[in-house]
Amino acid sequence: MRDAPRPGVLEELAWPAVRSAPWPVALMPWGATEAHNTHLPYGTDTMLGREVAARVAAACAQRDVRVAALPAMPFGVNTTQLDLPMTLNVMPSTQLMLLRDMVRSLEPHGVRALVLLNAHGGNELRALVRELQPETTLLLVIVNWWQAGDHALFAEPGDHAGALETAAVLHVAPHLVADRATWGQGHARRSVLDGVRAGWAWIPRRWTQVTDDTGVGNPQEATAEQGAAFVAQAVSRISALCVELATLDPAAMYI
Ligand SMILES: [Zn+2]
Repeated sequence: MRDAPRPGVLEELAWPAVRSAPWPVALMPWGATEAHNTHLPYGTDTMLGREVAARVAAACAQRDVRVAALPAMPFGVNTTQLDLPMTLNVMPSTQLMLLRDMVRSLEPHGVRALVLLNAHGGNELRALVRELQPETTLLLVIVNWWQAGDHALFAEPGDHAGALETAAVLHVAPHLVADRATWGQGHARRSVLDGVRAGWAWIPRRWTQVTDDTGVGNPQEATAEQGAAFVAQAVSRISALCVELATLDPAAMYI
């Protein structure tokens, strides 16, 4: 038996379902294609963003709010990982052009807010939004999905392929996680510069100098149950935001 299209997942919907009413909110997952320690797939960020977006659209549909989960962008900014094989980088300037085209596609059709559901730390979307917001009536919103759940679920959530992300993949796509015995430690070397260590100076990390296994954060504590709890929290919070955005008056956004 075929599964029915999931509510709001644009790739799965036919024209009659799409045109039957406006979509006040669109949700665009933005991932990456890059190494994730020795145990998670290259598509980790894209898969997690895509899945969270689909679940948010479903949760909003249950509240009779039409939220369109757009196809996930699989290419992120990975300019400092290009020495790792098959890393697929797009430049921030390319992201700006892609985002402008998405905004122009959505704006004439009644979409009020476009939520960029970011799933990759290298995607620094704020500068893009600062540039594009004056050009459009669409309200542009950024959500880093990994910040929407409760980090206290983890002793050490980690940064890249650490416990948080590993738990989420164990929940969403367990068949793609390698045997636990093979997981790298995700040890990250610290900068030799005081200002960078203290956080007030910043240099993009040279990935292959920082970590031997491409991970940043020890994944060993991760369980599928933690992943389920974290994803559920994130979905709940992001869907509540989308419901608010569906009726938000852009002229009355502050109290
Ligand atoms: Zn990731």
